[in-house]
Amino acid sequence: MTKALIVGGGVAGPVAAMALQRAGIDSTVYERYPRAATDIGAFLTFAVNGMDALRAIDANTVVTGLGFPTPTLVFRSGTGKVLGAIPLGGSLADGTVTHTIKRAELYGALQDEATRRGVAVEYGRTFVSAEPLPGGRVRALFADGSMADGDLLIGADGIRSAVRQVIDPGAPKPRSLPVLNVGGYVPSGQVSVPVEPGTFEMMFGKRCFFAYTLNGNGEIWWFANPPRRQQPTAEEVDAITDAQWRSELRDLLSVDNSPATAIIEATPGEIRAWPTLDLPEVPVWHRDSMIVIGDAAHATSPASGQGASMAIEDAVILAKCLRDQPDTATACSVYETLRRTRVQRIVAAGAKSSNSKAVGPVGRVIRDAMLPMFLRKMAKGGDKSAAVMFDHHIDWDAAISVR
Ligand SMILES: Cc1cc2nc3c(=O)[nH]c(=O)nc-3n(C[C@H](O)[C@H](O)[C@H](O)COP(=O)(O)OP(=O)(O)OC[C@H]3O[C@@H](n4cnc5c(N)ncnc54)[C@H](O)[C@@H]3O)c2cc1C
Repeated sequence: MTKALIVGGGVAGPVAAMALQRAGIDSTVYERYPRAATDIGAFLTFAVNGMDALRAIDANTVVTGLGFPTPTLVFRSGTGKVLGAIPLGGSLADGTVTHTIKRAELYGALQDEATRRGVAVEYGRTFVSAEPLPGGRVRALFADGSMADGDLLIGADGIRSAVRQVIDPGAPKPRSLPVLNVGGYVPSGQVSVPVEPGTFEMMFGKRCFFAYTLNGNGEIWWFANPPRRQQPTAEEVDAITDAQWRSELRDLLSVDNSPATAIIEATPGEIRAWPTLDLPEVPVWHRDSMIVIGDAAHATSPASGQGASMAIEDAVILAKCLRDQPDTATACSVYETLRRTRVQRIVAAGAKSSNSKAVGPVGRVIRDAMLPMFLRKMAKGGDKSAAVMFDHHIDWDAAISVR
């Protein structure tokens, strides 16, 4: 194959384009929004395995200047008692550790690097449908009436993927998990917080999970996960006012021994929120020269801290499969064989983590009693799921083979 059409210029899309270029395959990225305009205000944990995957295509330097290192998580109960501390994936051979990065900055850096490498990224292009063409080719149709033809259509269009629906009209819809995500920033010097550099403080409060960290300039970055048995829609979440958030979070967090309420009071500007969604199993990932990768195929709860890293791994491994396998259909099948077990395991771990933040009073007592033992096991490297998440290495030069 020589030409790929990539729908989505978030994380997986630009990385797929750069990796395909290395594999000698031309591509165009079609993104519905203007450059890096989405989700201003959100930040994410960018794990070492994502860094490793970027390194496979020499794109890791693009993100190393972004955000700040957060290699350690410290967990506390609502009383302030330390339940345990765990490394967030250790470090790569050159000392690179997990970072916390603003999502829009990550998007912008990846898009810019793809453009710098000569990839065509077209903004304001909304994919609506696709149809197979003779000879195994595929045609993408856009909302403005335009179309584009290629040898493979890659849906890197996120959790509400339109490409996924074209591949399988019966594909599952995103699932709601019982917490919301609310977050913000506090400028330096407003609140004094007892946190070591490089540490993310995570509190299983009596009524609400709350986390915060300090960036290199003394700014506090925080998020909370207020429980919601009935998940509102994205529109309903957007309709909750800033004053309502402040009032709800104050009520939920005032019962705990933590700086949470002071942090929220000191947060200037609007407090933003997102529903918590995932996609545990998408049965069909590819058909007729179309395939989904990243969140379009397997979105995970933010609690796993792995969505962006898995999207990058997907993009690089798909490019390797297309480089090494004899034809596109075989490459897509081999790709699925290599990826499905890993990503579904991480999605399951993310859901478990989100669910544990929404337990009732009895569940909370059990959770807080079990956590120190579980965290000790993780810290010693004895927890297999944590090791599976982070200890993933991609060697670009190694040929893909499936035994
Ligand atoms: C609140 C929150 C916190 C998170 N925290 C973390 C974290 O700590 N760590 C982590 O690793 N991950 C985190 N994530 C998840 C992470 O953001 C995603 O897993 C990651 O962005 C997935 O990348 P992607 O490229 O697959 O999809 P996306 O980043 O969603 O990109 C999809 C792109 O496709 C575009 N698009 C969609 N439809 C169309 C269309 N029809 N036509 C053209 N373009 C289209 C979109 O505009 C978007 O740019 C979090 C997510 C949320 C919501």
